[in-house]
Amino acid sequence: MDREAYDPAEMKGSATESRPRAAIANLGCKVNLAEMGAVERMLLGRGAQLVDLDEPADLVIVNTCAVTAVADRKSRQMLRRVRRASPNAAVFVTGCSVAVNSGPFARADPSARLYGTGSKAALADDVAAHLDSHTDSAAQVLQDGGSALGRSDCAFGRTRAFVKVQDGCSFRCTYCLIPTVRGEERSMPADGVLDEIRLALAEGHREVVLTGINVGSYSDGDVTLPRLVRRILEETSVERVRLSSVEPQHVTSELLDVWADSGDRCLPHFHVPLQSGDDTILRRMGRRYDTAYYAALIERVRRTSPGAAVHADLIVGFPGEDEAAWSRTAEFLSSLDLAGVHVFRYSPRPGTPAARMIGRVDATTQKRRAAEALTLAADAAAKFACRQLGRDMRVLFEGRLPDGRWLGHAESHVLVAAPAPDERPLHNAICVVRAESIDPDAADRIAGRVVV
Ligand code: SF4
Repeated sequence: MDREAYDPAEMKGSATESRPRAAIANLGCKVNLAEMGAVERMLLGRGAQLVDLDEPADLVIVNTCAVTAVADRKSRQMLRRVRRASPNAAVFVTGCSVAVNSGPFARADPSARLYGTGSKAALADDVAAHLDSHTDSAAQVLQDGGSALGRSDCAFGRTRAFVKVQDGCSFRCTYCLIPTVRGEERSMPADGVLDEIRLALAEGHREVVLTGINVGSYSDGDVTLPRLVRRILEETSVERVRLSSVEPQHVTSELLDVWADSGDRCLPHFHVPLQSGDDTILRRMGRRYDTAYYAALIERVRRTSPGAAVHADLIVGFPGEDEAAWSRTAEFLSSLDLAGVHVFRYSPRPGTPAARMIGRVDATTQKRRAAEALTLAADAAAKFACRQLGRDMRVLFEGRLPDGRWLGHAESHVLVAAPAPDERPLHNAICVVRAESIDPDAADRIAGRVVV
């Protein structure tokens, strides 16, 4: 459930061009991000120019998320926002939220065209027809992002390439709708992944993020995730490899060995969902580990990858989470010394086992626990950032702050801001940056100086 906002700013055209104007609104996880990268390529390939969401467009694609009730609501708000900005646009709405329940979207915007996750081929046809162009290649890109999985999807407009290697999930966590919406787990062929990465490198990308709904379940014959990463390292010149979130039981010794042997090309950053620090709640969630397993795993990660950043997801207010269970969770979280925590408030997803469980936690209590969890998360992130001070980090610069400094991610995924040492732009440059202080504008961001 790692999430990242989508901003196709790097590929935008000028407002005076006469090409069709297209906008993409993306919510949710890195898989959605990778899928919209493929859509972006298709649009640009057909001659469209990308514009900001709040600028008038001829065509808008909204990719929705259903991970929580809040995500559903934000998806509908996004649809209203793009309609306000582009009253006459053809609006295409896809993704998990519309697949689960299209009614609220139809009511929010009766003229929007709605597509579930299984009807991406129809979406592709319609987008292609709208652009009055070659239907075949557009349809191929989007069909392959759907259930068939041929080519993977890369967000080529971004500095880092998000490559989707896997889709769907066959786990049945009791709170989660994803297996219903995305279907059983399936992987793209390893050769196809390698081709996509070579393409990304040819486009100038220097870091690849392997994404999937349950990326650790990757399997193409005897090629598991660790073997896939080994092949990527051996058969391509990629400089930096990162994983999106990976389930605890998939962080195996074999995977950690690949990281240790990679000579710094596999980045020391793991996003490992925790969800609760109470064993009873973990069982009720249908998670496949307990807190002892998780704690031992973090130890193992730190032994093989010293200084690695570990991020986690946490759900607060799951049914049955009483004060004692919450205290155990808060205490466990503090003991892990994580680099960051994404906090979600539990909300019942229609049709899931958890939605029928007794022991619902009231909204006020949920809110309080979420606030407490966010405080713990902020403390952990600040502590991690402080530990980086004085060190040299390899930062991939991705954008510029309003104050002129360049901003990028270090190997550990911590954000680093630094002024350019001279006039040259640092976009897509990997520089060695000395971490000098905590950025006064953000407690989890580091202010540094480019030394090489
Ligand atoms: S592992 Fe669990 S939470 Fe993650 S997508 Fe699968 S069912 Fe959902």
